[in-house]
Amino acid sequence: IIKVEKLNKWFGDLHVIKDVDLTVKQGEVIVVLGPSGSGKSTFIRTLNALEELQSGTIEIDGIELTDDLKNVEEIRKETGMVFQQFNLFPHMTILKNVYLAPIWVRKWKKAKAEEIALGLLERVGIPEQANKFPGQLSGGQQQRVAIARALAMQPKIMLFDEPTSALDPEMVNEVLDVMRNLAESGMTMIVVTHEMGFARQVADRLVLFDKGEVIEMAGPEEFFDNPKHERTKLFLSQIL
Ligand code: ATP
Ligand code: MG
Repeated sequence: IIKVEKLNKWFGDLHVIKDVDLTVKQGEVIVVLGPSGSGKSTFIRTLNALEELQSGTIEIDGIELTDDLKNVEEIRKETGMVFQQFNLFPHMTILKNVYLAPIWVRKWKKAKAEEIALGLLERVGIPEQANKFPGQLSGGQQQRVAIARALAMQPKIMLFDEPTSALDPEMVNEVLDVMRNLAESGMTMIVVTHEMGFARQVADRLVLFDKGEVIEMAGPEEFFDNPKHERTKLFLSQIL
């Protein structure tokens, strides 16, 4: 469902993504690891056309990413994204935060959109918060709203960029649980995270980035217990 070939990206002179190849099948969960500045965020933002690529190809659900605006819109419809910061609209209710985009993009009627939004809030475990405002919710609850909002667009792929890094420790698990359920439901996911328990348990494959290159790509057992590359061993020794 995702095919990336020979992807390269520069910020000015800085070569941040170097010849990256990645093929993801429908329903697979890929966890992306790597030190700060290794290009993890840039990589997943490029998949969503939030960053422009300089060479290589990206294909999402059979659509090749070009710089044509219509094409970019199509790709964004297929990919939901959740960031470290929740970026909810503070002056709108939780329910409206969830249904606003599909009303515009999917042209849903308000009643249908509200019903679906409420179903999604149930799915992330906070239907009772529907009529509150973001400021009245905990960080973990706000991030669950952000996940519901991304799901409201009915994407085929979900991209997560350190979704629990801005949370107090006691709220990390409630968000990881939602992500785990999503993975079990068959969603295709690419997740940048430092949560190694989640990575080991949920990932089908792990990818280690370093200085814009893919150093290692393997299933969890091989990646954690028997990595091939010295760089991976060093990285794991620093974080585990
Ligand atoms: P972190 O773990 O800290 O989030 P990361 O792996 O996500 O790091 P990126 O944010 O993708 O790393 O950054 C990769 C490199 O690109 C870094 O050297 C960063 O300074 C640089 N970079 C990122 N965004 C920009 C930008 N908009 N303009 C110029 N350089 C950028
Ligand atoms: Mg990042």
